Amino acid sequence: MNTQQKYAIVTFGSHSALQILKGAQQEGFHTICICIKGKEQPYKSFGVADEIILIDKYDDYFLIEDQLLQKNAILIPHASMIAYLGIEKIQLIKTMYFGDRDILSIEASRDKQAQWLEDARLNIPKTFTPATIDRPCIVKFDGADGGRGYFIAKDYDEFKKKIADRYNESFTCQEYVVGIPTYIHYFYSPLTKELELFGLDKRYESNVDGIGRIAFKDQAGFALETSYTVAGNKPLVLRESLLPEVFKMGESVIKASQKLTKQGLYGAFCLETVITSDLQFYVFEISARIVAGTNVYMNGSPYTYLRYDEPMSTGRRIAREIKQAIARDQLTKVLG
Ligand code: ADP
Repeated sequence: MNTQQKYAIVTFGSHSALQILKGAQQEGFHTICICIKGKEQPYKSFGVADEIILIDKYDDYFLIEDQLLQKNAILIPHASMIAYLGIEKIQLIKTMYFGDRDILSIEASRDKQAQWLEDARLNIPKTFTPATIDRPCIVKFDGADGGRGYFIAKDYDEFKKKIADRYNESFTCQEYVVGIPTYIHYFYSPLTKELELFGLDKRYESNVDGIGRIAFKDQAGFALETSYTVAGNKPLVLRESLLPEVFKMGESVIKASQKLTKQGLYGAFCLETVITSDLQFYVFEISARIVAGTNVYMNGSPYTYLRYDEPMSTGRRIAREIKQAIARDQLTKVLG
């Protein structure tokens, strides 16, 4: 039995689970997919899960946790798990957990996130209180819910009209940066202390990416409101001269995170940016874990092709890090 065969990799069946499980299989781990009943078809069909555990709702995870503990399972978090289980319940998880759990509460608060990005000296869009909005702003509700319900307002009156009955929810008004939204995928190894660039994607969002299909003269016939609900992702390579800046930004957020929590950020993460016409990156958000945009590179990206002689997805890289940590007897370095 290989050392890693004494462990299992487990994740929830959603978001980037196909890639996480496939990558873990490629690295020789037993894989377990926890699925909400009725959602298991892809995990069966693609053969990425050696075992599927069905539950009725996310909270029922705690009913099956003993099975995972017995199997020496290591849980890989992703955005759906965080959104549906919630960060308080995640702190109660006893199963081994890949990544820094302390960073979750920082990521979840837009203020703390902004402070983190500022400490890293990155360009970030200006934020406003509703009454001080003096330029087109994007109004975002808290929680990673794929851009659902976000809207644009250029002044307080428009804001009041559009926020309607959601005023009591937590939201941020952020300057709308005109440019191209670009999502940068990184991996930072706490074992080698090296930062790797894994790839980039752009999102395919409804309806903002569909509006251009209707000629301006015809748009007047529709009651159009711009919305940003993510439906999928597309691959992207960057103008090569921008890559030094990409590495610099990634390294700065890692360094800044080490002042925020004991372990600091490690594993997969993503900087969500807008690149303006003068080629400046504005970072509007950080995701401190694997993002769904990495799914476009299940077989590796142009950048992982350069570094690895084999197909390397982010999911596989996570499993590789765990495998190396086990081999060096340093598993605690990758568990939070
Ligand atoms: P999520 O919380 O789902 O990650 P985001 O904060 O990424 O949501 O925003 C969703 C979409 O809104 C982005 O893909 C981008 O198109 C757009 N967006 C977000 N912030 C800005 C900004 N400051 N300027 C311009 N567009 C933005």
